[in-house]
Amino acid sequence: MKRLAAYVLLTVLVLTGCGGPVDPDTAQESIQVIAMDTAMLITTYGERSPAAAYACEDAIRDLEAKLSRTDPDSEVSRLNAAGGEAVEVGEDLGVLLDAAGYYHATTDGAFNIAIAPLASAWGFAEDRFRVPSQEEISDLLKLVNGFALQETPEGVALGPGQAIDLGAIAKGYAADKIVEIFQEYEVPRGLAQLGGNVLAYGDRPDGTPWRVGVQDPARVEEQNAFAGVLELTDSFAVTSGGYQRYFEQDGKTYHHILDPATGYPADSGLSSVTVVADCGEDAGLSGMMCDALSTALFVMGEERALDFRRNWRGLPFQLVLITEDGRVVVTQGLADRFTLEEASGYQYETVS
Ligand code: ADP
Ligand code: MG
Repeated sequence: MKRLAAYVLLTVLVLTGCGGPVDPDTAQESIQVIAMDTAMLITTYGERSPAAAYACEDAIRDLEAKLSRTDPDSEVSRLNAAGGEAVEVGEDLGVLLDAAGYYHATTDGAFNIAIAPLASAWGFAEDRFRVPSQEEISDLLKLVNGFALQETPEGVALGPGQAIDLGAIAKGYAADKIVEIFQEYEVPRGLAQLGGNVLAYGDRPDGTPWRVGVQDPARVEEQNAFAGVLELTDSFAVTSGGYQRYFEQDGKTYHHILDPATGYPADSGLSSVTVVADCGEDAGLSGMMCDALSTALFVMGEERALDFRRNWRGLPFQLVLITEDGRVVVTQGLADRFTLEEASGYQYETVS
């Protein structure tokens, strides 16, 4: 189960010399934000680092207010409660719905935001975990897989009984917003950790790449237990894994990433998927891409995920797959940026 650290607002402001000029390499602000059911940490550098960090917090809270499934006033809640009637949506939700439709189509339905009623039946939405009956799952799957968004002049409408959950894509979109803010505030370097969504912006103050650990799914109870480390500059690295949120019943483990083909937690032989892509000037909404694809490729499994990547015509991305049979599979483009943690005991492979 996800454990949220106690809410701490941590502000570290390092100025070089009293009243002297601010050194953009070392001037640093670090804030923790609890939002979107996630403990987030944002670190900014540069002369305007405090303002930039707080602008990121504002942007995240603004998105949460629009996209939350639990806040009845959010746009998403109003859409879910509209019973098939059209609801006007703002720009952010519009962009997310378009993207969700695109990833739904391109992943053959592995990515599906209409999973919401099924996620609720399993209790993941409300932390009331249970295993639904096969009959209940089959009925809900009709809603999930019959998903089609109606666009009308009055707004967008779901089908009756349908509901959406943007949990698999919203943090990636927030990471894209953070890149925009970093650019606007001329942040030379920074780091944003939104749960499994990491933005490694620029490089470290000493000019070396940021080091982003890939959690060892077999040792989630340990802090800093990595299967390997990625050395990244100007990149997103987004991980989805069954270990992030789960419950146990009758000796079986059930996790929160659901396979829309079966209605059960995805059981594809993978224990985590990390998607890595550039976040530079021409990267568009690649944070959102990484988030959507980390979830979808986890559902697809190793073979389909690697085929999907080879045939992908969108923005380029690389993968680190951790398999249940003890392998770490890294795509060629990341080979010189990934170092296996030898003590983790995984077998290392590179693939095209
Ligand atoms: P997390 O948000 O926990 O870091 P993900 O990005 O993989 O991990 O998103 C998982 C969340 O997305 C689930 O908690 C659920 O709300 C939703 N979800 C579960 N299965 C799917 C799916 N097949 N397609 C889209 N969203 C999903
Ligand atoms: Mg995701």
